[in-house]
Amino acid sequence: MQSEIIMIGTELLLGQIVDTNAAFMGKVLAENGVNLYQKTTVGDNRQRIIRALESSLERADVVLTSGGLGPTEDDITRECIAEVFGQPLELRDDLVEQLEARFRRIGRPPTANNMKQAWAPKGAAALENPNGTAPGLIVEDARGMVIALPGVPRELQPMLRNGVMPLLRKRFQLKGLVHYRVLKVCGIGESAIDNVIGDLIRDSVNPTVGLLASPEAVRIRIAARADTKAEAAAMIDAMAARVHEKLPGLVMGEDEATIEGSVDELLQVRGWRIALAESHTGGMIAQRMSCAGVKSFAGALVEPVAPCAQEAAAQQARTLAGQAQQQFGAECAFASVPLESEGAAAAVLLTPSDVLEWELRFSSLSDIHQLRAAIAVLERLRRLLANVSDPGF
Ligand code: ATP
Ligand code: MG
Repeated sequence: MQSEIIMIGTELLLGQIVDTNAAFMGKVLAENGVNLYQKTTVGDNRQRIIRALESSLERADVVLTSGGLGPTEDDITRECIAEVFGQPLELRDDLVEQLEARFRRIGRPPTANNMKQAWAPKGAAALENPNGTAPGLIVEDARGMVIALPGVPRELQPMLRNGVMPLLRKRFQLKGLVHYRVLKVCGIGESAIDNVIGDLIRDSVNPTVGLLASPEAVRIRIAARADTKAEAAAMIDAMAARVHEKLPGLVMGEDEATIEGSVDELLQVRGWRIALAESHTGGMIAQRMSCAGVKSFAGALVEPVAPCAQEAAAQQARTLAGQAQQQFGAECAFASVPLESEGAAAAVLLTPSDVLEWELRFSSLSDIHQLRAAIAVLERLRRLLANVSDPGF
């Protein structure tokens, strides 16, 4: 079975939006063992959309499209599909009903434009869209199948995962699948990690191991191909164990895990809460903790402090940490005070059992460096709470 995807939207060609749908679709298709050999991006132009559909149908059994199903003038995917399959568009009672029900729920009447979305090529199957008004469409003939999805990512994603993939798996008796797990490491650079697990990255065929860096964490992605998810998970477990062995205690979490979440778990185990005095990181740690709903977050002071020399900064950081600890009645406290060299700060971390003092060094205080500093602090705290010793790299 072969698939292709056609990404529809002039804004994609103009670089006004980044094509995240193609990346998502590629990932989901690969996870399900579906071959995807070619991707086409085309603007909102009738002739070119039709040509792209016809050309993809010559090569692939299933052609998935993204975008152009909306109610506006430039949304013409539905018309183009009807043309390619030589079917007239018809107003469908079931889709009218769905659309009216949806507008009743959101409490406003549909416009005449909206009703455009209740039209479908004759013989098409409709695919429910739980997050929007445009249903997906499935049309097929001897050449193959076209599945049209809306362009809005939060509509397309669940429709692809929960609607399209089960249908394709059944229809084409798809067995193989690719399953992923991401192990996240903070506070160590990508190249240092590559030095340590480079052999696993180079030599592994199934599962494969790959690295992806971001300011928040280096992500080690393990991907296994197998017949079932359980089999793939077992293969991933074995590879993950080898990664853990090479990076003892340094994997902060898996998949959706965040550094603040894993710090929170460790603090909660001990029944400790943490107070912050973020003169250097400007509230970045507090922002992450409050956004993630960290239960052990007691409160934060974000007072500007003029940069000072090392001794004075360290002294002030100790004072501020003590103040925050007292003010919020917390067992633990963190404080940072900027040093005279730009981007550097004296940092202090207090817990009932430890006092840690060190220097944060980042080249400037742009928001990206502030984020890196916040992550570095959280990782220090995580290692302290998890009794992880310094890896020395
Ligand atoms: P709508 O009902 O909102 O009009 P649609 O199916 O007509 O949806 P488009 O009009 O093509 O889809 O795109 C709607 C919005 O979805 C775009 O403005 C953009 O924000 C987002 N979008 C479209 N295509 C992509 C894509 N390939 N990757 C990421 N986002 C996309
Ligand atoms: Mg649109």
